[in-house]
Amino acid sequence: MTEERRALHDLAYRFAEEAGVPAVDRWRAQQRVDRSFWTAAGTHGLLCCGVPESDGGGGGSVLDDFVVLDAFVRAGVTPAPMQVHNVVVPHYIVRHGTAEQRRRWLPEMAAGRMIGALAMTEPDTGSDVQAIRTRAVRSGDHYVLTGAKTFITNGATADLVLVAATTDPAARGRGISLFAVETKDCAGFQVGRVLHKMGQHESDTAELVLDEVRVPVGHRLGAEGEGFAMLMGQLPQERLIVAVTATAAIEHAVDLATRYVNERYAFGKPLIAQQHVRFEIAECATHARVARAFLDDCIHRLEAGTLDDVTVSMAKWWFSELEGRVVDRCLQLFGGYGYMDEYPISRMYTAARAQRIYGGTNEIMKEIVGRSLVTSDTAGAVR
Ligand SMILES: Cc1cc2nc3c(=O)[nH]c(=O)nc-3n(C[C@H](O)[C@H](O)[C@H](O)COP(=O)(O)OP(=O)(O)OC[C@H]3O[C@@H](n4cnc5c(N)ncnc54)[C@H](O)[C@@H]3O)c2cc1C
Repeated sequence: MTEERRALHDLAYRFAEEAGVPAVDRWRAQQRVDRSFWTAAGTHGLLCCGVPESDGGGGGSVLDDFVVLDAFVRAGVTPAPMQVHNVVVPHYIVRHGTAEQRRRWLPEMAAGRMIGALAMTEPDTGSDVQAIRTRAVRSGDHYVLTGAKTFITNGATADLVLVAATTDPAARGRGISLFAVETKDCAGFQVGRVLHKMGQHESDTAELVLDEVRVPVGHRLGAEGEGFAMLMGQLPQERLIVAVTATAAIEHAVDLATRYVNERYAFGKPLIAQQHVRFEIAECATHARVARAFLDDCIHRLEAGTLDDVTVSMAKWWFSELEGRVVDRCLQLFGGYGYMDEYPISRMYTAARAQRIYGGTNEIMKEIVGRSLVTSDTAGAVR
């Protein structure tokens, strides 16, 4: 945390508290964040902080985007819409976009006038990205996209959806390309159901239908067939989002529970006077400290350009499981109040469950770590 990042954190926290928290219940009912929140976030400089200034962004790095996510978690506003919009979508465009593509989309995204989404998952395939069936067929200076996507964060709100589609299903990963679909007045692009989730209700998670959507060739990101490699190249940074938001949630849960067990009385004493309660909170606080040290290590590696797939896969599964366990234990200390939706700890519990699923399931993460530990002698047996 540099001085500038502390200031950014304060700004993001205050913004989330003032502009987000009072609106959260309404957002949860309507299953989406207000458009005005996005543009206000853009005005405050909280969108696309990691995009170069020359492309309309904040001129910082992805670490600045992480700082904003951390502040949102602590303020009690789900970071999910922002994490896709800030940390996922623009970084594909910065890295792989042409000058024209960067000029067309990034300043609008940084201003919050264009909201981004990434659509990989399909009803029949999620973990096995190479098996996607959404087809992209070249037709003159356009591609025609046909298929269905599901579980897409910001799906119903997005103005710009990066769609993974295949030009050659037989080629599996080598047939996949990424296409930027501008959704406004887009013939054939339909939002299906906005899915009712266990938690994170204010984040819109939708089904998308692409029915012969015509996308100009100039809206393909990177070369044809490079989409899968682009997705894999970006994954370490995306998976680190889970580690960042999980650490913030763990620390926040420990803070909330610590305050509660000092204030709540039972049997004539504050809860913290019970040794079991002290041990619970002591263990949770220790987990938080260890998590922070591991996260710092991952961040240093990211800054040094040495964050490898195996380390980030370890981080993704470990942080998300720890978040689930710590939030659960903290919730228990709230007794019945912990189960009430109006209490932040209750919302944190349901929000945490998704972290083990998206960004690559924890089983896939362990598969990546496990395969790195197979020796050449045993490789044949594992295949
Ligand atoms: C809240 C939320 C938001 C999401 N946002 C997006 C988004 O913005 N964009 C997007 O594209 N997707 C998004 N997703 C989808 C998410 O990425 C997928 O759900 C995830 O990749 C798993 O795919 P699946 O659901 O098809 O499960 P499957 O791939 O069918 O897996 C089912 C189970 O089998 C296990 N499994 C599968 N293969 C293996 C294996 N080889 N070894 C061991 N176990 C295995 C999995 O770990 C899992 O437990 C979101 C999901 C959620 C819940």
